[in-house]
Amino acid sequence: MKTLLLSENENDIKQVGEILRRGGLVGMPTETVYGLAANALDGEAVAGIFKAKGRPMDNPLIVHIADIGDVEKFELVSDFPEKAKLLAEKFWSGPLTMIMPKGRAIPDEVSAGLDTVAIRFPEHKTAQAIIRAAGVPLAAPSANISGSPSPTTAAHVMNDLNGRIDAVVDGGECRVGLESTVITMVPATPRILRPGGITAEQIESVIGKIDIDDAVLNQLKSGEKAASPGMKYKHYSPRARVILVKGESYTDFVNKNRDKNVAALCYNEDAEKLRVRAFALGDRADTDSQAHALFDTLRQIDSENFELVYARCPDTDGVGMAVYNRLIRAAGFEVIDLEKI
Ligand code: AMP
Ligand code: MG
Repeated sequence: MKTLLLSENENDIKQVGEILRRGGLVGMPTETVYGLAANALDGEAVAGIFKAKGRPMDNPLIVHIADIGDVEKFELVSDFPEKAKLLAEKFWSGPLTMIMPKGRAIPDEVSAGLDTVAIRFPEHKTAQAIIRAAGVPLAAPSANISGSPSPTTAAHVMNDLNGRIDAVVDGGECRVGLESTVITMVPATPRILRPGGITAEQIESVIGKIDIDDAVLNQLKSGEKAASPGMKYKHYSPRARVILVKGESYTDFVNKNRDKNVAALCYNEDAEKLRVRAFALGDRADTDSQAHALFDTLRQIDSENFELVYARCPDTDGVGMAVYNRLIRAAGFEVIDLEKI
């Protein structure tokens, strides 16, 4: 199949709407990462997403809408809890995904057989225009080959999926650069399953106490069931082996272990002290720029064929929690704690 590279102009968006209505697959920009979209109400179209990405069938998809009213209009949920309505008022459109009991319009392919569904209203104007042009909600996971770093440019999508999908719409770089925060609204005390651009503190300021799932910061124990199936896989990984290095003597450790095949993934403040190729994600205090740069940098490390990356373990305040959550999965939970050796 030839993959069309389209722009954000009106004619191209109209064409994308037609492709989606007839069951096709389209890479679309959002403020988090690029999504691979299909008609969420068409099980067969949605099955195509799993095939194109090589995504395990037990990992459910997020349904994208272009208006809060779409939740009820398309019968996407069987219950829209009060706390979810409050969060929708405050954070939609934006990088927050809420899990609710699924409605009868949701095919099994979307929810991967669960009795819940994940819903998000993206803030990106082109994503909204594409959803409106399709006239239906769109199921969309990240538009990468399953397991690789998520795509934050149209070129990343083309690298992974050229020839496997109908089209990609180029909307430039994604603003946030990491996937949405996922929170389940099913329990009385809602629980974050995946951290993202909207932080726990922001959510608590609207609905009070919430929980954070153990799997956000820790590896699941063998046999333990993941509340969010996506959190159980090694994920977001470049081909290079990534090791997270924890401790203030990070730069000394990397310099001692330097080699031509070793790269560092670090803060701006570390870069000039390092004697290996250093990829800086931003200032230590600037978690937004770290989030923005992470996936593109992991892809760049692969394009330069490094074999081993010592990544500085990020601080977990605010959006830093999301950066940490992605990096520890990119590392397959391999960590060196300098305070313990
Ligand atoms: P992605 O689309 O690649 O951003 O992945 C979507 C994330 O949302 C994955 O981690 C999924 O496991 C999670 N997710 C989607 N639907 C549900 C659901 N109904 N229950 C729990 N997690 C979900
Ligand atoms: Mg993904």
